[in-house]
Amino acid sequence: MAKNDQKTQDSAAKPELEFGRVWRYEQAPEATDHVTIAPRHELFVDGAWTKPKSGEHFATIDPATEKTLSEVAQAGDKDVDAAVKAAQRAFPKWKALSGEDRARYLFRIARILLERAREFAVLETLDNGKPIKETRDVDVPLAAQHFFYHAGWADKLDLLFPGQTPAPLGVVGQVIPWNFPLLMAAWKIAPALAAGNTVVLKPAETSPLTALRLCEVLQQAGLPPGVVNVITGDGRTGQALVRHPGLAKVAFTGSTEVGKEIQKAVAGRGVELTLELGGKAAHVVFEDAALDQAVEGVVRGIFFNQGHVCCAGSRLLVQESVHDLFVEKLQRRMARIRVGSPLDKNTDMGAIHSKAQLARIRELCAAGAEGGASMHQAACDLPGKGFWFPPTMFTGVSMSHRIAREEVFGPVLAVLTFRTPEEAVEKANNTSYGLSAGIWTDKGARILWCAERMKAGVVWNNTFNRFDAASPFGGFKESGFGREGGRQGMRAYVKLEGGLLPG
Ligand code: NAD
Repeated sequence: MAKNDQKTQDSAAKPELEFGRVWRYEQAPEATDHVTIAPRHELFVDGAWTKPKSGEHFATIDPATEKTLSEVAQAGDKDVDAAVKAAQRAFPKWKALSGEDRARYLFRIARILLERAREFAVLETLDNGKPIKETRDVDVPLAAQHFFYHAGWADKLDLLFPGQTPAPLGVVGQVIPWNFPLLMAAWKIAPALAAGNTVVLKPAETSPLTALRLCEVLQQAGLPPGVVNVITGDGRTGQALVRHPGLAKVAFTGSTEVGKEIQKAVAGRGVELTLELGGKAAHVVFEDAALDQAVEGVVRGIFFNQGHVCCAGSRLLVQESVHDLFVEKLQRRMARIRVGSPLDKNTDMGAIHSKAQLARIRELCAAGAEGGASMHQAACDLPGKGFWFPPTMFTGVSMSHRIAREEVFGPVLAVLTFRTPEEAVEKANNTSYGLSAGIWTDKGARILWCAERMKAGVVWNNTFNRFDAASPFGGFKESGFGREGGRQGMRAYVKLEGGLLPG
């Protein structure tokens, strides 16, 4: 366990959170806007807020303070059924709209989201623990971009699939994780609606608030009832949704373990499936790279969003000749990462999302240290309350270590070395995952040579963790199948009828 975990900082200046009140964060210059959080949230079904049949609710907390933010509904089988039926009723009308009309709704949603950007950024930061500068600069604008981008396709489906007749699939059941709650909701909903499908979305149980608030935006945009339904709950709700016979497609983002379960649950039912699962990306740094820039890329690759990123560059493969120099530079840079209040605009790394995730990170770090790897942690004062872990790096790691093989999903970098490009590629591909990879080198030809050989859905060159709605995202092997974003992402939401080209 990190020695820093024992340290505390004065939390007296922190604001007290109370139900149903307008909260002002005196300590957070960037978050002085107000965000009101209702004490209780119901299910969004058929365009209206609906109490769960069981009457059951559970708390969602701020991981930086462990204070309850609100209660959300636990949807049971009957609630799931009601949501799917609402989406089924809405489908014929939504499908019959012209692409241009569907686009108008999507554009409207995107614009309202941007108008309410500050509110969404603060809410996401509170419910998730990620720094406000990330929700402000990445999560919310990118979520809006996904609606803008897919609005652009809604009336151009015939251009996307020339010679064929694209038709929507029907009701799509979508289950998302907690690490990018609003962004994942946008990734899922925008292409589904653009193609003419209707949706039942289940956000993660530990970060449901922005997906629920998005329902307000949908209402504001005048989206017809039933086109998007949002049901909250834990894994049982997700299970009931993916097993519902009324679905034409399931789109899942989450762990490989649950992805495999879902694959079994939909097998043989004629239900379309896309899975966006875990990762263990290699970030390869060659000796000829611009090392200072590479340090920035590696830091962004693993410490962005506290490392709660499926495509995080969690394995650093650095060429042996520059290993010591690079590690020294990294250590110096890690010491400058500011960990603390997620609402402070100067914070680089916020809170670990949950107690369970913190326990997993600690367990894997303990395994790394026991296995003989050397742990380096940035010295920082961690708040006494909430879930925190300092930026951490392991050197002397070998491929057999658990920290080199398993997804930590936290701010923990495992450093390995290589001598030749062949060895770098071989080590990069030596994983059960295949979501992303990064290459840092001065030589264009080497980038192409490596990228061609890396078994990863996304390969970043001299950059890392850059996202764009126009760029397809997805994995190979145990990272899942299907793509989200770009033209390829739209393919997952249509069936192709007629024409000469293969679907
Ligand atoms: P998780 O698999 O535990 O949960 C994801 C969602 O599935 C949650 O909404 C959960 O309630 C639901 N769920 C749980 N059990 C279910 C079941 N049996 N049937 C249906 N739904 C069920 O994952 P998590 O801990 O929320 O998220 C972290 C994981 O997500 C990491 O492995 C990460 O790599 C992955 N992820 C992947 C991508 C990607 O695009 N590839 C993006 C973000 C996160």
